[in-house]
Amino acid sequence: MLRPLSLKRRNAAVLCSTWSDGLESCILLSDLRDACPCAHCSGEQIMGQIVFPGMKTLAPGMNDIAALTPVGNYGIQASWKDGHDTGIYSFDMLRSIFESKRLSQQTLDDIDHQLSSHT
Ligand SMILES: [Zn+2]
Repeated sequence: MLRPLSLKRRNAAVLCSTWSDGLESCILLSDLRDACPCAHCSGEQIMGQIVFPGMKTLAPGMNDIAALTPVGNYGIQASWKDGHDTGIYSFDMLRSIFESKRLSQQTLDDIDHQLSSHT
């Protein structure tokens, strides 16, 4: 099974990972949060799209990671700064997020630039 060798925050918005097969990929933390597999989020996403589009982005700290904790041999538990910590991402799931949401170097540079110009 493919597994992440490292998971590191690049900055406030981006998480980067290196995998056992050599893949290096960076994604937005908000994409990771959007993919939260817990029952609560999967249900809420459906409702949010119908009833309150955009509501998901309003909780403070929601897309900011507090901790990533290994779970057994198969996954990672994400704790978010809004207190949400019930999402456990299997390595398979993480891998598919890091493949499908992978940021281009250009986008990474743009994000770096935006963040540095705001501080
Ligand atoms: Zn969740």
